[in-house]
Amino acid sequence: MEQKLFKQIWGLSCPLKIRIALWKFVNADVPTKSSLYDKCIASNLICSRCHIDVENLNHVFRFCVFLRDVWVALEYTTPMHGAQMSFHEWLSWMFDTYTKTKHIEINTTLWAFWFARNRLVHEGTNQGVRELVVFVRSYYQLTTLAGGALRASSNSIVRWYPPPRDFIKVNVDAGFQLEQKKTSSVVVIRDENGQSLEACSRITYPVLSMFATEVIALTHGLRFSYELGFLSMILEGDSKSVIEKIRSDKENITTCFSVVLEIVISESLNPISKFINIIYEYLRVNYGF
Ligand SMILES: [Zn+2]
Repeated sequence: MEQKLFKQIWGLSCPLKIRIALWKFVNADVPTKSSLYDKCIASNLICSRCHIDVENLNHVFRFCVFLRDVWVALEYTTPMHGAQMSFHEWLSWMFDTYTKTKHIEINTTLWAFWFARNRLVHEGTNQGVRELVVFVRSYYQLTTLAGGALRASSNSIVRWYPPPRDFIKVNVDAGFQLEQKKTSSVVVIRDENGQSLEACSRITYPVLSMFATEVIALTHGLRFSYELGFLSMILEGDSKSVIEKIRSDKENITTCFSVVLEIVISESLNPISKFINIIYEYLRVNYGF
């Protein structure tokens, strides 16, 4: 079983850092509170998210009540007698039960859980169920782009090109939930080799238009990159109208963003003027292939 799981993990076409992370999870090589307690490094064993159970490997990835809801929202089932399974056995069951395409999503979900857990423990940032689901779905789509072409749906193809040297490429993906009037943005930053460097997702305030949603997503991309210290970038979004508006109205970029920032996000700091190079690109989606 060890050999089979090893091949399944290293055979996945997802970013190397995610495969490495999964291999560490399988080998229990992660500092959960339980493992830190065993090494006499931590005194508190309880999960920072639910405050109910001991935070061990199975709890972080499978049993925490919040994360169970994420698995359900992503439409994964649990095995019979799953409660007795080790993390290792459960992952083997998941890989045997679901197709190869789903393996990448499962992998991304586990990685996102650990990422979210660390943000909660170290920064106090609590990502909700919906935010994690949006992140997993969008990150999966965006990382697949790094391979060249993505068949995003049955009738569309998206092409992703790496940035030149000394630049990073920031891809943003905006979502707009009409009923809740909420927006979500997923930001993925990659280098010239297509390797993903960082990613984040955010759910924000009610907005009135798709245009504002796209601008907010781009603003998040800029802010996230700035916070990480990247100052030369290609900022790529899939809204042609927004990208064209920004390109044609260069002098008013700051105004355009800051108005939205003031009205919708209510943040005062505007980092845009501090960037050295920003190139705005439109991520082309060609229909009809
Ligand atoms: Zn928990």
